[in-house]
Amino acid sequence: MALLIEIGHNGWYSEEDLAKELRTLDPKADIRTAAEPGNLAEVTMMAVSTLKSDQPTRLPNLQLVQKLGAGVETIVNHPLLAPHVRVARLKPEEPAREIAQYCLAYVLRGIRNMDYHEKAQARAIWDPVAPRRPAEVTVGVLGLGHIGGLTASLMRDMGFKVLGWSRSEKSIAGVTCLTGDHGLRGLLGESDYVCAILPSTADTRDLMNAETLAAMKQGATLINAGRGDLIDEAALASALYQRRPGHAVLDVLRTEPLPEDNPLWSHPCVTITPHVSGWHLGDAIGDVVENLRRLGAGEPLLHEVDRLKGY
Ligand code: NDP
Repeated sequence: MALLIEIGHNGWYSEEDLAKELRTLDPKADIRTAAEPGNLAEVTMMAVSTLKSDQPTRLPNLQLVQKLGAGVETIVNHPLLAPHVRVARLKPEEPAREIAQYCLAYVLRGIRNMDYHEKAQARAIWDPVAPRRPAEVTVGVLGLGHIGGLTASLMRDMGFKVLGWSRSEKSIAGVTCLTGDHGLRGLLGESDYVCAILPSTADTRDLMNAETLAAMKQGATLINAGRGDLIDEAALASALYQRRPGHAVLDVLRTEPLPEDNPLWSHPCVTITPHVSGWHLGDAIGDVVENLRRLGAGEPLLHEVDRLKGY
C-alpha cells in the first residue's frame, strides 16, 4: 500500500514538500514522489492535481486517485482510468474562503470604482464618484457547493442581494436559490456581478455561450473562478462589445497557461489572473493520509466523487 504523489503541473506546491508534510502526519505511511517512485506495482493510491495521460497505465494496482483540491475533470474523464479505480477530492476550508474573497475583491473593486480612480489618478484628475451601496447591488453565484455556498454567504453577509444557482434545490438563509434553465436566465438577467464556481462537466461546458451571455444584464461583470471551459471564449469576446457582460474577470481559462498570443490578454474589458483564486490546501492535507489509511482498512473514503456525475 503506497501513495505516489505526482502533481501533474508546475507552479504550485512541490511534490517533495507535500510528501514531507504527509510523512509528518503519518510517519508509518509509505509515501513516494515521482522523483523516487520505487516499485510501481506497490502503489495503490495516487495524489494528483491534474491526472496526466500516461499515469494510470504505469500503475497496475491503482485503486484510488486522490485529487489535491476540488476539480476532478482530468481524473473522472481520463480515458485510461479503469472503471474500478475510485476518485476522491478534498474539501478544504482555506481555498474556499480564498475564492469567496477573490470574488468579493472584484465586486468591491467595481462598486468602489477603484479601476476608475486609478485611471483618473494617472491623469491627475480629481473626480469624486459615489460608490454603490451593497444593498443596491445583486450578486449571482453559479454553483452553490462547498465553495459557491461559502461565496454566496459571504456576499449576503456583506449586504448584497444574492441569487444562487445549482443543480439540485438548495436553501441558504438570505440567498434566493434557483435551479434549471429558467433560474439561470433569471439570475443572469438580474445580477450586476455573476460569480461562476461550477465544476467542469458535460452539462457545464460552454454553459456561458453567445445565448446565455446575451441574457446577462448590460454592464454586468462575469467572474469565473471555477473552470475555463464554462465560457465560450470567442462568444465572450463578441459579447463584451455588446457590454453583456461589460467586464470579465477570469481566473481560469480553457487553455492554461493562456498562450501569449491569445487576444484575451489585451482585451480592455478582461482581467486575467493565473488560476490563483484558491491556493492553499490548509489542514485538509490530513485527509490524504486518512484516505490512504481508510483505503487499506476498507473503510468509506472521505469525499469520494461519483465518477458518473463528474464532480
Ligand atoms: P462542489 O461539488 O461542492 O459544488 C459544485 C456546485 O456546482 C454544486 O452546487 C452543484 O449543484 C453545482 N453544479 C454542478 N453541475 C451543475 C449544473 N449542471 N447545473 C447547475 N449547477 C451545477 O464543488 P466545489 O464548490 O468544491 O468546487 C467547484 C469548482 O470550483 C471545482 O469543481 C473546481 O473546478 C473549481 N475550483 C477552482 C479553484 C481555483 O483556484 N480557481 C480551486 C478549487 C476549485 P448541486 O449542489 O445541486 O450538486
